[in-house]
Amino acid sequence: MTGIDLSQQWFDRAVDVVPGGVNSPVRAFGAVGGTPRFMASGRGPYLTDADGTEYVDLVCSWGPMILGHAHPAVVAAVRDAAGRGTSYGAPTPGEVELAEEIVARTPVERVRLVNSGTEATMSAIRLARGFTGRTKIVKFAGCYHGHVDSLLAAAGSGVVTFGLPDTPGVTGATTADTLILAYNDVAALETAFHEHGADIACVIAEAVPCNMGVVPPLSGFNALLKRLCERYGALLVLDEVLTGFRASRSGWFGIEGVAGDLMTFGKVMGGGLPAAAFGGRADVMDQLAPAGPVYQAGTLSGNPLATAAGLATLRHATDEVYAAVDRAAEIVSKAVSEALTREGVPHSVQNAGNLFSVFFADGAVGDFAAAQRQDVRAYAAFFHAALERGVYLPPSAYEVWFLSAAHDEEALGRVLDALPHAARAAARSAA
Ligand code: PLP
Repeated sequence: MTGIDLSQQWFDRAVDVVPGGVNSPVRAFGAVGGTPRFMASGRGPYLTDADGTEYVDLVCSWGPMILGHAHPAVVAAVRDAAGRGTSYGAPTPGEVELAEEIVARTPVERVRLVNSGTEATMSAIRLARGFTGRTKIVKFAGCYHGHVDSLLAAAGSGVVTFGLPDTPGVTGATTADTLILAYNDVAALETAFHEHGADIACVIAEAVPCNMGVVPPLSGFNALLKRLCERYGALLVLDEVLTGFRASRSGWFGIEGVAGDLMTFGKVMGGGLPAAAFGGRADVMDQLAPAGPVYQAGTLSGNPLATAAGLATLRHATDEVYAAVDRAAEIVSKAVSEALTREGVPHSVQNAGNLFSVFFADGAVGDFAAAQRQDVRAYAAFFHAALERGVYLPPSAYEVWFLSAAHDEEALGRVLDALPHAARAAARSAA
């Protein structure tokens, strides 16, 4: 094991020129402390940092790398595409093929490609408002849909509250039309529709919330969302940016079978390059410019490198790949629970298919308020002990642990070897 001298040097340089030293906040290790590792390369299930230390990667770029890093078919597709030019600003066959692959795997009839999950959800909401002619949107506390202004809203204290800005820079006017409800709270949902139904353009929900840790929908919850939207003339926007093409060939839809009127995708479908999408019913999607009046555009949307990486990834994401990810997730989630139980650390491992997270709290977690009651200090100790043993976990207690089909026996063995040490560190911190 080497030190972190070079990561430290890069971080010191970074903070001089990049706010907080990182280009997305969670990477800064703020929730766990210490110096973020600056990564130099990835191969299969491993990342290697600037100091040459290799880690088993359980972040997988926050989801996209379902085939593992530098998969030969993805690298070849990107190399080939780059040789033909990096962007044309005109339609390309690759965009059509990627859209066809998405339509074939999911219930959506039309797809518009964008560059990030944030763009996908932002555009889906604009389209829902344009289609319905209504203003209000319903969002659930603890669901993350990217850094869209109107969705960076926190719940107030009532059962059904209008959003209060979650961050400086978002105005009260921007969040005033966002209704925030507790997740899995059927009564609050019915009240919201009863009181505001005629004004609600859409409900947006993660198909399975994964950004407060994994909080599975109660049985029938997504179907209820769909029924209520139908009854009140609103649209259901199911966000599958994280779950799409990861939970199954299509995403959470492949497991639960509830389709949104609009759905958002990202991560896996870009193969590690910036590509995302929103799609849905043809009659709704056809309201988008240039077919319809709702404006949406992008200089780099459908970029040839990104579509090549996404297409290569989806074409190699076979049933065998999903079986391998399911198996790896089961092995790791079971082992972490056993290790924490052995050390007497209160925890709850929650999963939705192959997506799982570990709450350092007693008992099941059903919503954001419960998720926030976990012992984040115990997680920080666990995280650093795992890192010392060469396992790169998400640097926050609220995140999914991501696996790939490249996590073979060797990589899983290294994780399993590190877990007892990490669990002991968590136990010491809790004591
Ligand atoms: N929606 C969900 C469910 C996500 O998990 C994320 C990102 O983690 C986003 C949207 C935003 O995607 P991006 O970071 O590509 O903007």
